[in-house]
Amino acid sequence: MSRIPSTPDYLLLPKSVTCNSWPAVRQGQRGNTMKAVGVTPSQREVGILNHSTPELHHDDEIVVRTLDVGICGTDREICTFVYGDPPAGSDYLVLGHEAMGEVIEVGPGVENLRVGDFVVPSVRRPCKDANCLPCRQGLQDFCSNGNYVERGIKQCHGFMTESFVENERFLTYIPPGLKDLAVLMEPLTIAEKGLAQAWATQQRLPWVRHYEDGKPTGKGLNAVILGAGPIGILGAMAMKAAGFETYVYNRSPAPNPKAEIVEAIGAKYISSRDVAVRELPEVIGSIDLVYEAIGISSVAFDVLSVLGVNGVYIFTGIPAPGEKIPVDADQLMRNIVLGNQAVIGTVNADEASFKAAIEDLAYFNESWPEAISSVITKRYPIESCRELLLERATGIKNVISFG
Ligand code: BGC
Repeated sequence: MSRIPSTPDYLLLPKSVTCNSWPAVRQGQRGNTMKAVGVTPSQREVGILNHSTPELHHDDEIVVRTLDVGICGTDREICTFVYGDPPAGSDYLVLGHEAMGEVIEVGPGVENLRVGDFVVPSVRRPCKDANCLPCRQGLQDFCSNGNYVERGIKQCHGFMTESFVENERFLTYIPPGLKDLAVLMEPLTIAEKGLAQAWATQQRLPWVRHYEDGKPTGKGLNAVILGAGPIGILGAMAMKAAGFETYVYNRSPAPNPKAEIVEAIGAKYISSRDVAVRELPEVIGSIDLVYEAIGISSVAFDVLSVLGVNGVYIFTGIPAPGEKIPVDADQLMRNIVLGNQAVIGTVNADEASFKAAIEDLAYFNESWPEAISSVITKRYPIESCRELLLERATGIKNVISFG
């Protein structure tokens, strides 16, 4: 008898093993191939390679023509070979996990998507362990054994290629009006999941008015976003939209293009050149929520030391292993205990976060059209991949465009 009788079959064992279903194609080989951007860790190579053009293998699959793929810190880190793994049997990994594209072919079992629809794929795919309860419930972002795969990151090819095949349940429909911004959806889902975790945690404070008109609200609460990269700026927009008094704390002094976006959405930009971490509570008041989007542990733990009483701190950065750093652990532990603080790590995102990201993206587009469109710095052709992945990061969100 199944341990989880109510779990539908399709969640128990993924039908489509899309990751490994394409034979590896070596550079220079011709045939039914297309251009892709990938890393070959054994050769320490990064660049354009030939990749087999994917085809439908299962009824519930869809062929998507790639339009935009965002480049993020994770991609750049994979290109230093400290993170990421090719699929079994392939010596390379096709990069790209922030994508949007157009449906060009649907399998006979596809129920809700049609040719011509715009879609955004999610990143993580469930493990196959029948005992992994989160994966069996479609919550692979909480996979309990680490045997998940992630497209473009861990043991599964990504989307930085002319087309890809994906199971319908891992694609989110994008209204045509949001097509040009949809490449920002995946990084925005990180904030949406973080916020959902924060709401769930702060239910422990029944005297805080969490809901207004049936929706969670941050009204009357202070949120600090640590870092003004794409994750930070999209996080600031999500927190502002949720009603928080929102502050972005970042190194570069204002004025600068990131500070301009922050000010344009009605949040406040604070440079660490002007205000030291320990002075933040004097400027802001009690810090109820910190959304860490910087990935630098020394700064992240420093800011944890000024989290307010009953506050919640959300870590999202994944620093590369480095030198050990000194941390005032006694003081931090005293604060966490005496201040009833909650410290949460969050990774990846579930279906609900993708739905919330669409709603928020539409809200950002209505409320701050210029600010949200300027998060996308520039669209580049695939030939620019090496400079975007290997040279110094510039701008906010750079995108490889296949359209
Ligand atoms: C991606 C997530 C992924 C995480 C860990 C991030 O860059 O946005 O989807 O789960 O890396 O690999």
